[in-house]
Amino acid sequence: MKFNTKTIHGGQKLDPVYGAVMPPIYQTSTYGQTTPGGHKGYEYSRTHNPTRNALENAFSSIENGNYGLAFASGLAAIDAILKLLEPGDEVISTNDLYGGSYRLFTKIYKDFGIKFHFVNMENADNIKSYLNENTKLIWVETPTNPMMNIIDIKAIAEISKHRNTMLAVDNTFATPYLQRPLDLGADIVMHSATKYIGGHSDLVMGALIVKDKNLSDRLYFIQNASGAICGPQDSFLALRGIKTLHVRMQRHCENGKAIAEFLANHPKIERVYWPGFESHPNHNIAKSQMHDFGGMVSFVTRGNNYNEALRLLEKLKIFTLAESLGGVESLAGHPASMTHASIPKKEREKVGVVDALIRLSVGIEDKMDLIADLNQAIG
Ligand SMILES: *Cc1c(COP(=O)(O)O)cnc(C)c1O
Repeated sequence: MKFNTKTIHGGQKLDPVYGAVMPPIYQTSTYGQTTPGGHKGYEYSRTHNPTRNALENAFSSIENGNYGLAFASGLAAIDAILKLLEPGDEVISTNDLYGGSYRLFTKIYKDFGIKFHFVNMENADNIKSYLNENTKLIWVETPTNPMMNIIDIKAIAEISKHRNTMLAVDNTFATPYLQRPLDLGADIVMHSATKYIGGHSDLVMGALIVKDKNLSDRLYFIQNASGAICGPQDSFLALRGIKTLHVRMQRHCENGKAIAEFLANHPKIERVYWPGFESHPNHNIAKSQMHDFGGMVSFVTRGNNYNEALRLLEKLKIFTLAESLGGVESLAGHPASMTHASIPKKEREKVGVVDALIRLSVGIEDKMDLIADLNQAIG
């Protein structure tokens, strides 16, 4: 089955009771048994729920995995991965990453005795000097947030392959429409399904997808034992979102390109970060591992002026100034004070998250309206 068919049919069956085409919302915590243990595969909804299971099968299908797991949020999904580790284990992580992931690593799991190394992975060889027998997890985010750096997933997988190390990829920005990390050698794919997968800014959810049975058993154990599951209503919404993922992504990419090019040609814009530019340092890797370049674009106003960036953000009319990304509507964010506020200023600026940086999640509105809105706000 091709990707555009999988988004609609992957892992889905007609409802066995009435043949409903969309999976019913099984809003129930428990299930009747005829005799102790005599049930139809469902006992309690933390453990299993038919609506959530339908969603988990869809997750697995679109990422070319064998097992999918749905969580209450993207961070709950990352938390489940970290629970695979033990004190003394080491993690090598992308240095330019989602602020909440950084906070979870450094403010919670560091205190449990796990050691984190934050490494610039634009050159995959950079991880070599941090790899040792304690390295249990490599954490990759690509494209990175918000600097839009590209990391070569296949090269990282090759380097870590012969060690007892898992490679996990946060695929939130790219979505499986653009890149499928399991096909490139990753062991775990993680999503904040809050973003493009849900696609309508109406839910908070996380996903993990794996190929390996043993790894999935361990993660299912954690999912049930720790309990950060998502509810049936949200599962239904995410399933509905997935059905248009390919159509939405196509338009996100088209609009993202138009806006990146508009900004790059604007005299009042200093720098634009978008992996589709030939001048992007990792453009060739982006071209080889991604199907297109996505709808996320970051930029810095001329003179790197914080006040000018703030004025621009306040003047936008169609773009909403808000956290998050990946919905049908266009959003603009200020990483230094919003998504990345939990990263110390010095650390932030080292990777380019300066105070004048603006991040756009380009929606699927008419691109001429979006360009006109940016144009009036830049002034
Ligand atoms: C939003 C986001 C997360 C966290 O997901 P939540 O659903 O907000 O918990 C993790 N990684 C990336 C890249 C994100 O954008």
